[in-house]
Amino acid sequence: MPKQRDYYEVLGVGRETSADEIKLAYRRMAMKYHPDRNRDNPEADAKFKACSEAYEVLSDPEKRSRYDRFGHEGLRGVSLHDFSHMGFEDIFSMFNDILGGGVFGGRARGGPQRGYDLESSVELSLNEVADGVERTLEYKRQDYCDNCKGSGAKPGSQPQTCRTCAGSGQVRQGGLGGFFQMVRTCPTCGGRGRVIVEKCRKCRGTGRQIKQQTVTVKIPAGVHDGQAVRLSGEGEAGQHGAPRGDLYCYVKVKKHPFLLRDGDNLLCELPVSFAMSALGATVEVPTLEGIEDLDVPAATQPGDTIQIRNKGLPRLGRSGRGDLYVRIVVEIPRKLNKHQKQLLEEFRQTEKKNNNFPQTKSFLEKLTSYLSR
Ligand SMILES: [Zn+2]
Ligand SMILES: [Zn+2]
Repeated sequence: MPKQRDYYEVLGVGRETSADEIKLAYRRMAMKYHPDRNRDNPEADAKFKACSEAYEVLSDPEKRSRYDRFGHEGLRGVSLHDFSHMGFEDIFSMFNDILGGGVFGGRARGGPQRGYDLESSVELSLNEVADGVERTLEYKRQDYCDNCKGSGAKPGSQPQTCRTCAGSGQVRQGGLGGFFQMVRTCPTCGGRGRVIVEKCRKCRGTGRQIKQQTVTVKIPAGVHDGQAVRLSGEGEAGQHGAPRGDLYCYVKVKKHPFLLRDGDNLLCELPVSFAMSALGATVEVPTLEGIEDLDVPAATQPGDTIQIRNKGLPRLGRSGRGDLYVRIVVEIPRKLNKHQKQLLEEFRQTEKKNNNFPQTKSFLEKLTSYLSR
């Protein structure tokens, strides 16, 4: 029995990789090795199947944990789907994290091979995520040749109708007496129906040349780390004037010095002294808009959270904003001076006389009943 390859290795990711990163790794590989893009290429086909299988296991938390613990052995009896029948659109519909330009679809199959999709990325601060932002991207791409306008034919000459297929792009083979005919893509023109007789000198008949391109990408407010904006038609030009691919602009969100993102909400840890938490205080909290005053009520306990409404991030594609949660971290003084020690000693004397420590009280009550069993 052939030894199965490690799923992490197949996707080119580490064992600690997050679910989102696994998704991205798979998407990249699926785009590269998809059969629609690699006709009659068994090697690409095998790679596509392998990465699809790896993705199916690693994208499912239960299957992943089984695989992590027991390897391939752990997946015995677990049925795996066969992704290899899925078209591009199906694969991309698995990823609801692709924004902009509407949904995937309408991609002609069997027509001229469109140009490759390209990827770029931008890094945003949390403040930029809150407001949405426009960025300019500069990159080099295969574009249509200026000399022949992408046709690949020498200017003044015209591509001729293919004689092999009479322009249909398909040829019929076999067939005894007209039965059992097989239709194949025409080998002479590659399905285009036209052949270039005199090639453009500048692009040697490919119809393409490298050009510098500048585009502006609008990143919507509330975008999440790892999501992408699709810029339709900003990828590479196809050969012989075939349509352009798309450009995907991936978003990476930088860490904020105070605010941690949790979906559309933000979390902030706020250290306060134990006297402040006992007596109550007004403190300053960092928000996306700057510093705000926050009332910490008397008797706030360590780990209590205070919710500040609508101070989170905008909800992507919806109205409204998340909230900011301030988590109180009560800090005990590391060092006391003589006067403070004296004050706290006096305070300790008063502690015994009242019942203002519900947790301590309940602990002592439990302890008493435990000992008297
Ligand atoms: Zn040309
Ligand atoms: Zn032909």
